[in-house]
Amino acid sequence: MVLPANLDVIVIGAGAAGLSAAQSLRQAGFETVVLEAADYIGGRCVTDTTTFSAPFDRGGSWLHSAPINPLARQAEQTETQLHKKPWSWAWVHALGHTLPEDQVQAYQNYQDELWLAINAAGAQAGDLTTQSAMPTGRWAQTAMHSISQMLAGDADVTSAKDSSNYAQAKGDWMVEGGLGAFIKRLHKDVPVQLNCPVTRIDYSGVGVKVTTPQGTLQADHLILTVSTGVLGAGVIEFVPALPASKRAALEQLPNGLLNKVCIEFDPEWRGAVQGQTADYHTSKDEFCSLLFGLFDTNLAVGFVAGRFADALERQGAGAATDYCLAGLRETFGNSVEKHILCTDETAWRSNPNTIGSYSYATLGGAGARKTLAEPLAGRVFFAGEATMTHTYSTVHGAYQSGKRAADQILSIQTQFAAKARNAPQHDCG
Ligand SMILES: Cc1cc2nc3c(=O)[nH]c(=O)nc-3n(C[C@H](O)[C@H](O)[C@H](O)COP(=O)(O)OP(=O)(O)OC[C@H]3O[C@@H](n4cnc5c(N)ncnc54)[C@H](O)[C@@H]3O)c2cc1C
Repeated sequence: MVLPANLDVIVIGAGAAGLSAAQSLRQAGFETVVLEAADYIGGRCVTDTTTFSAPFDRGGSWLHSAPINPLARQAEQTETQLHKKPWSWAWVHALGHTLPEDQVQAYQNYQDELWLAINAAGAQAGDLTTQSAMPTGRWAQTAMHSISQMLAGDADVTSAKDSSNYAQAKGDWMVEGGLGAFIKRLHKDVPVQLNCPVTRIDYSGVGVKVTTPQGTLQADHLILTVSTGVLGAGVIEFVPALPASKRAALEQLPNGLLNKVCIEFDPEWRGAVQGQTADYHTSKDEFCSLLFGLFDTNLAVGFVAGRFADALERQGAGAATDYCLAGLRETFGNSVEKHILCTDETAWRSNPNTIGSYSYATLGGAGARKTLAEPLAGRVFFAGEATMTHTYSTVHGAYQSGKRAADQILSIQTQFAAKARNAPQHDCG
């Protein structure tokens, strides 16, 4: 694709946020292009269709909170198969053994109590860590593992207020063929320039000037959707530099880590039924969870999160897989290994285009999402999951943030057109 010379808006990043922003702007008649550093579309929501016999979402996979999720509404209209079966998230294998039904129920009851406690802590004036807000008791440690996997940050460093801000509704759906593939289909008409990393954003003059190895582009406005990992690492130079308020917001919103290990079993293996989950840990800080039978496939997915996920990623390729396989053996016995056909793992921290999985707020940092979302100089707009106060860390939050940034630009243009119409007419004759 030849980069266009006259653009109204440049969008940086072809994840859910950038794609939805560009789609809204194009529908309103704006000339726009998405510049993407990677060689694929989707960012942190991408479906791997080649490694396993079934699609594997390497990043986002669930349409969380389906009743209030705008992408779930879109999927209902366009997708032939949605997996809506309630996912209990109850640990069937925990604390080293298979749980009887009454204990699964006890864990679910603890989860309900836990969210009441987090919401109560969030309603207080000050902030607590998520861990301090959690009720004590037998299930606290197992629940802390699931919280860390949800937030991509450990419960002792994440903000209870931010956790309580998250908008939840019962229902986690999946799209047949993968969420990444669905997001790509939904935005198939959006023009994307791949392999085009932005290295510099100059907003010192009129409009914005963007530098890439493929040339410099100019436009009236810019929408920036890269992760807080990328922004915080200073990969992109800003002229003038980002203001102190934005830099402080980035410090309060580090990009956490959640990695997945995907394991394919031979079809004969009947060790677990669909939707069963196992919590495996070797200490309170070293843990993984395993989820079996996605979409009636023979795939299981292991999740590692927080500091432990970072430590495993630093150990090198295969370390997270080895840990999850130890969890499998512990849960189902050593014979399970002979049923494994293929494994693979993600390494989102080492990915230079994400530098992590998704943002969490540190203690006292819940308000930073609003600060990060504020436009700069009326022409640089911020989108991406981290900028959403109630739907951060999700694909639908990213999608909503792109629409919000597009609407901000549309409203500026509408005001500008109205001013021009109402300006006094001069008689030149
Ligand atoms: C393991 C994992 C599991 C998850 N599970 C779920 C889930 O089940 N449900 C859910 O809703 N969410 C989930 N998420 C979160 C969800 O995937 C993200 O919140 C969402 O995809 C983020 O979208 P985004 O558009 O904000 O950012 P991104 O997808 O990161 O898009 C930003 C884009 O910018 C590009 N970029 C970076 N630097 C540059 C540069 N210098 N120049 C140009 N382009 C650049 C990147 O390559 C990327 O494509 C998960 C994430 C991970 C990693």
